[in-house]
Amino acid sequence: MIEKYKIKLSEYLAGTENIFFHNKGRVSLYAILKSMNIGQNDEVILPAYTCVVVANAIIYLKAKPIYVDISEETYNMNIELLEKAISDKTKAVICQNTYGLSSNIEEIISISKNKNLYTIEDCTHGFGGTYNGKANGTYCDAAFYSTQWNKPFSTGIGGFAIINNENLLPAMSELEKEKISLSKKTQFGLKLQYFAKKYFINDTTYWFLLKIYRWLSKKNIVTGSSAGEEISSTRMPENFFSDLSKAQIKEGFKNINKLPENLLLRKKNAKIYTDFLKENNKKYVSEKYFDNHSFLKYPMLVNDRKSFFILAEKNKIPFGDWFISPLHPAEDNFEKWLFDEAEFPIAMETSKKVVNIPTDTKNISKIIKYLQKNINFIE
Ligand SMILES: *Cc1c(COP(=O)(O)O)cnc(C)c1O
Repeated sequence: MIEKYKIKLSEYLAGTENIFFHNKGRVSLYAILKSMNIGQNDEVILPAYTCVVVANAIIYLKAKPIYVDISEETYNMNIELLEKAISDKTKAVICQNTYGLSSNIEEIISISKNKNLYTIEDCTHGFGGTYNGKANGTYCDAAFYSTQWNKPFSTGIGGFAIINNENLLPAMSELEKEKISLSKKTQFGLKLQYFAKKYFINDTTYWFLLKIYRWLSKKNIVTGSSAGEEISSTRMPENFFSDLSKAQIKEGFKNINKLPENLLLRKKNAKIYTDFLKENNKKYVSEKYFDNHSFLKYPMLVNDRKSFFILAEKNKIPFGDWFISPLHPAEDNFEKWLFDEAEFPIAMETSKKVVNIPTDTKNISKIIKYLQKNINFIE
């Protein structure tokens, strides 16, 4: 099964079969950093608008995360600021396809190569997208992907790394031996989740179930994407370095078959959102990128997000709240992750205003109608 899964994935990864499975994308990142021999006194550059677990993986290895503010237009790292963030201690640069918007990868690679730095792509949103015709994840030294339940295709929770720089392969293979198997209890929890997702989640139950799921996972009652301690501290949880189980592989194999159709729907809907926002003189994602982006979500900025969300919930519109903090989903005490709010004004402003419009909806007219009615909220 695992070989078949690998072959299936490689169809989206320019044929590479240098794929290493882990129980989460963050674990794949940790493995990649380790294979690069990153540790104490090293610095790793990443966007100041990311998941807290990305910063954690760096800190678990005693290295230091160095954040770079994002660009308003791309939601990804501001290239001009990247160069200033590089020091003698920098070892690697992480670029990210936020919301499935491809990163400005060529510039990042050329700056990094000049300084002899490794590049890593955070492809957790970008599987299935391309940049200049090349599959996301295939141009850096390494990339990591997430198959958590609302990423491009899902195994409930799960992740994998791909290695493009062959020098890293021996260390990655060596790390395979250290992976821990998932407990039977966790595997059972995952199977329940597959069942719930299949039979219970729809627009009507979305907000309610999301709240229950987040609460249960915060309390570590179900295997959520983040253990409580990952959002509140920089301590590595027990059993962090876990492998993907058979049930997850089976689920992934099933779900990846729906991806091509899903990608088409996402792009089609994204175009409708762009046209709508443009017509109304609002901020939109430029269509000059459309060939590349996979549009896992469509970012939109609103004022008074709290009221906007309350209204959405009442109207049963399933908006997403990814990156309503610059270190999603941590909400405060950013200094624990060596993040100084004052240094990243664009990331802070964006995270105060962003909502994610669903791109995989089959009922887009309902959403457009809602946006039209609440147009005064939109920036
Ligand atoms: C989801 C996500 C991750 C982590 O993926 P997991 O599989 O949950 O570990 C990393 N980076 C970004 C930007 C993400 O959205």
